[in-house]
Amino acid sequence: MGKLKIILTVDYEVFGNGSGCVDRCVIDPSERMMQLCEKYNAKMTFFVDVCEYLAFKKVKESNKFKDGFDPAQKIDEQLKDIVKRGHDVQLHLHPQWLDYKYLGNNNWKLNIKYWRLPNVKLLGENAIYNLFKNGKDCLEGIIKKIKPDYCCNVFRAGALCIQPEEEILKVMHQLNFKIDSTVIAGMKFNDGTTFYDFTNAMDELPHWNILNNVKFLNKKGSLKEVPIFSASVPGIKVLKFKVLKILRKIPFKPIGCKQESNNHKKRSLLHKVFRSVKSQRRKFNFCDATPFEELKYMTEQAKSKYKDYLRTQNVPIVAIGHTKTFGNHKEFEKYLRWTNKKEYIEFSTYHFFNDNT
Ligand SMILES: [Zn+2]
Repeated sequence: MGKLKIILTVDYEVFGNGSGCVDRCVIDPSERMMQLCEKYNAKMTFFVDVCEYLAFKKVKESNKFKDGFDPAQKIDEQLKDIVKRGHDVQLHLHPQWLDYKYLGNNNWKLNIKYWRLPNVKLLGENAIYNLFKNGKDCLEGIIKKIKPDYCCNVFRAGALCIQPEEEILKVMHQLNFKIDSTVIAGMKFNDGTTFYDFTNAMDELPHWNILNNVKFLNKKGSLKEVPIFSASVPGIKVLKFKVLKILRKIPFKPIGCKQESNNHKKRSLLHKVFRSVKSQRRKFNFCDATPFEELKYMTEQAKSKYKDYLRTQNVPIVAIGHTKTFGNHKEFEKYLRWTNKKEYIEFSTYHFFNDNT
């Protein structure tokens, strides 16, 4: 009998408009997550936004931060610590940071034109290649100092905006990436800025080889799509999970982590509850105030969906989280405690694929 190998992934970044305190929104919640995971023998994978890191580094070099503030240095130290403690670090890119202005006092002007990764080609013929190459070299440069055999070969696109992906996948093949983990099968989103459409992705398989389209199996590709797990949740359960969030007053953000934004939509509580009382495709998300019951539900859905595979092999299941939305540490700990009692659940990183093919 195989096991569910849960891969806990965390997008490691401040907010998309550059706001948010690095200590409160990134460093502290990462430490908190790791401490909890270590108590229950779970591994994490941090998808680190290298565009943001490199912008922090440049602003520091030009002496524009006050009072010795050096966020890149803090990130640098934490990434080494993450790997020393047996967790993993892989590549994430938010290209709006490729064209930034630092306005002082933690205010940034980022270029929304590059919000979606494929738009990076507007910066020049080799811009996408160079971005991936620099990102990979940057993480390997930091981590090889303490782990010489470290390799950056797993990727997740910022805001999941990888499409149209043909050129991106070509570059990833050229640079020997092994895994993309951006797809959430069955989900789509388009607000004019963020765009993805993963409807019809073939998630009857737990993962699949890809060549020039992330959604479909193509055995000619040496890259693998390992999707973020998602499941259809009946309306009654959607309602139950919402009500639990409210009754338990589960925070949506870590203490002291705030987003500065002028167009944040505020909706009434009632609207929020009743808007969602219908069946929904939901991702396996262990942050954003997700209650224990939803995490358990998602895990059980994964077990039943892939039961035929589990008869003979281990099945990797990717969960997603964000440091800046990790306020539900009590719910997460309850979940980790529950998984420890379940024989069929273990935690893993993408290194799963080095030992299991
Ligand atoms: Zn991100």
